[in-house]
Amino acid sequence: MPGFELFGDLERKEVNDVLDNGVLMRYGFDGMRNGHWKSKELETALQNTFQANHVQLVSSGTAAVSVALASAGVGAGDEVIMPCFTFVASFEAIMMLGAIPVLVDIDDTLGLDPEAVKAAITPKTKAVMVVQMCGGMANMSALLDICKSNNLLLVEDACQAIGGTYNGKPLGSIGDLGCFSFDFVKTITSGEGGAVVTNNEDYYTNADHYSDHGHDHVGNDRGAETHPFLGYNFRISELHAAVGLAQVRRLPEFIAIQKKNFNIIKEALSEIPEVTFRTVPEGGEESYAFLSFFLPDLEIATKVSSAFKENGVDACFHYFNNNWHYIRKWEHLKDMKSLFPISAEVKNGLKYLETKTFEKSDHYIARNISCLIKLSWTEEEVKARASKMVELIKACLA
Ligand SMILES: *Cc1c(COP(=O)(O)O)cnc(C)c1O
Repeated sequence: MPGFELFGDLERKEVNDVLDNGVLMRYGFDGMRNGHWKSKELETALQNTFQANHVQLVSSGTAAVSVALASAGVGAGDEVIMPCFTFVASFEAIMMLGAIPVLVDIDDTLGLDPEAVKAAITPKTKAVMVVQMCGGMANMSALLDICKSNNLLLVEDACQAIGGTYNGKPLGSIGDLGCFSFDFVKTITSGEGGAVVTNNEDYYTNADHYSDHGHDHVGNDRGAETHPFLGYNFRISELHAAVGLAQVRRLPEFIAIQKKNFNIIKEALSEIPEVTFRTVPEGGEESYAFLSFFLPDLEIATKVSSAFKENGVDACFHYFNNNWHYIRKWEHLKDMKSLFPISAEVKNGLKYLETKTFEKSDHYIARNISCLIKLSWTEEEVKARASKMVELIKACLA
């Protein structure tokens, strides 16, 4: 991660196809487009990647989460259980629908804690949204069981985990609906873009219509199409899809590079007994987009994070230094700052944020450091980085 590091002729060729005929819109203009349907081609490529029956491209990962939930009928007043360690987009996407995000603890996978999910279920719960953080995954079999026995939808926000698998299945294709982002810093980038993945034909049809003003996409005359229901514009453009198409073909190559770089650093850090690694549930394989590890306590983690910073080793310490991934720094959401009035029902549903503590999550996040694994590093650079990290961690432990 991120795909923009390896950018070149393949991307340029796909974009030029689109520029040659000037049809930047994904629908219609059949006669003008010279056979170029980049969005459709990308959807087909992603169906193969995710081994899923249906893929609907949208304008961003945030849009993907919102469209996925809407397509399955999640709306006003419904509760959606989600982890307190995520990207703030997953919270926003629920709020956009007038639904209520119910934040719960994570465990040592850095994903949803199944026990916390169970404890948060109420008669209003409609869905569980698992967020596959930092290239890893939550305990999916436990979550699948919980959702099944409580008749809840399981939605996967797999924006950070493209290329990871669980029991051989691509992350994002395990729940009822999966969501991906192709924003500028993700493993596969199209500049901006996202995808909803599902095997459910009704959800797919809903996502297809909903993301384009409710258009039914029957026939080839947009003006004559009917609109079975309300929709909005969450479309991707052909230019973005063209870039994504070139990038997705390189996914296996990107994952292989990530894995190689990840393993060099992991092996080096394994020498230090005080360092432990994020748990990967049995049957799971990470996407290797990040290497996430734990230090013994907050004090040491703080020291290591500062030492990394001073020595040019970029790494995320979400507990202190990051405002958009962990509940601890979400003051604007805890204080409910909104440009427009929020319904009394949602306000009431979010009251728990005033008092709820997330001690179990603090226990992990306060000791966790996550390093982005880059695609452009040379082997020498990775090895130098790995030994620098070992040296700095040892000094902080001494
Ligand atoms: C990036 C990301 C998103 C949102 O994607 P955008 O395309 O930037 O809107 C949602 N969830 C997670 C976990 C992400 O990392």
